[in-house]
Amino acid sequence: MYRGDFINDEEILSFLEEGKNAGKDEIRNIISKSLSKQRLEPIETAKLLQVEDKDLIEEIFDAAKKLKEEIYGNRIVFFAPLYIGNKCINNCVYCGFRRDNHSIVRKTLTREELVEQVKILESKGHKRLILVYGEHPDYDGDFIAETMRIVYSTKNGKGEIRRVNINAAPLDVEDYKKLKEAGIGTFQIFQETYHHDTYKKMHPKGDRKSDFAWRLYGLDRAMEAGIDDVGIGALFGLFDWKYEVLGLLTHAIHLEETFGVGPHTISVPRIEPALNTEYPEGGKYLVSDEDFKKLVAIIRLSVPYTGLILTARENADIRREVLPLGVSQIDAGSRIGIGGYEEEDYIPDKEQFQLGDMRSLDTVINELSKEGYITSFCTGCYRSGRTGENFMSMAKPGLIQDFCIPNAILTFKEYLLDYASEDTIKSGNAVIEKELEKLEKISPKLRSTVEKKLKLIEKGQRDLYL
Ligand code: SAM
Ligand code: SF4
Repeated sequence: MYRGDFINDEEILSFLEEGKNAGKDEIRNIISKSLSKQRLEPIETAKLLQVEDKDLIEEIFDAAKKLKEEIYGNRIVFFAPLYIGNKCINNCVYCGFRRDNHSIVRKTLTREELVEQVKILESKGHKRLILVYGEHPDYDGDFIAETMRIVYSTKNGKGEIRRVNINAAPLDVEDYKKLKEAGIGTFQIFQETYHHDTYKKMHPKGDRKSDFAWRLYGLDRAMEAGIDDVGIGALFGLFDWKYEVLGLLTHAIHLEETFGVGPHTISVPRIEPALNTEYPEGGKYLVSDEDFKKLVAIIRLSVPYTGLILTARENADIRREVLPLGVSQIDAGSRIGIGGYEEEDYIPDKEQFQLGDMRSLDTVINELSKEGYITSFCTGCYRSGRTGENFMSMAKPGLIQDFCIPNAILTFKEYLLDYASEDTIKSGNAVIEKELEKLEKISPKLRSTVEKKLKLIEKGQRDLYL
């Protein structure tokens, strides 16, 4: 039933029903619209979601690959999650951190432990973190802002964190302003499910998280507080994945219409096994690998300019398959236990769920380099004010190529000089060489600007960007 916020369950369900009747030509017209880099309308996305024909599905995959290539190039941005505390006042049925899960050891990093974790991450080459928190009165705006300041001020040799993103419970405008002040990159909130009745079942009555609208408008408040970059997401596996894709699109359109700019990123977590936690509804809505590929490709086609995040929840094989379909950001070398970066393995009693890809950052970068992807640790945009609307107006004419690729080259070079293994140095330098050749074709002047900066980096300068 429709409850008066901007998610109208009945409307979404009716789009899905109507979407079943599309002919092949209609689907191809929608794909063409997307390839001309226009955002799709919900009914158009619904039609793509209902495609069953194998050849047409391949056409959707091909188009998603093409669009990604055209807008983002072969660049993959790397980040790492850092869990700050797992105390939680909520009882979300799917989450290992839920209040009643007594198998979990509750822990919040002390200042010293946080510094230690950040130094470990810096020693691996990370420059971008997402800090993650349970929902608890201890983790208010002041606390989150303080942890951000600690992260930014922790250096380790040449290592430093240049962008801190946050995934925490929705805050009020005053608290968001504190994070803005502390230099936040993106504030992420996953709605979990956009289906009101399912949301109710997953988030027991009386819990703070049971308020669907408080969460749904959480990113509106962040934007009102001046945070330009916000990230949305749905936890796939709670309800019909096709419905959730339309929920995400509706949310993106709402932000676009209200603030003139859509979300900076969309995350597509699939539910993972967690200690002492059953799958909701006995796993009825778990998303198969094949459907997961479809949903990533269709999101790519629906919102061409929004970054897509694929986390290490997924195993290495599925990450390999899904990456080309539109993903722009991944994490690697991740540990999600509190204090997890000191451990080589799982620490199940401090983890929210189980990760699928535990490979090291260097291993993943090496593999992607051999496949021709260029690694980026770039944080130039948000530090040059290219965020929110400014970012979108630049991204739209394809300027990502002019800034993001050069900055990927520069930050990747830093990584290769400071942290990479012998084999990654080889594969990485080959990728940089190819990218410079491509730049030459777009603009010899740009290549020469980048090469000058590369020389400075080789001489020991750091943090150079366009
Ligand atoms: N506690 C805050 C909240 O719920 O908004 C902060 C984020 S919570 C630590 C991070 C996200 O993890 C949740 O929004 C949810 O989507 C995801 N999550 C929870 N349980 C999960 C599971 N079993 N598998 C995969 N992701 C899960
Ligand atoms: Fe707490 Fe967030 Fe887990 Fe819910 S998803 S139990 S709010 S940590």
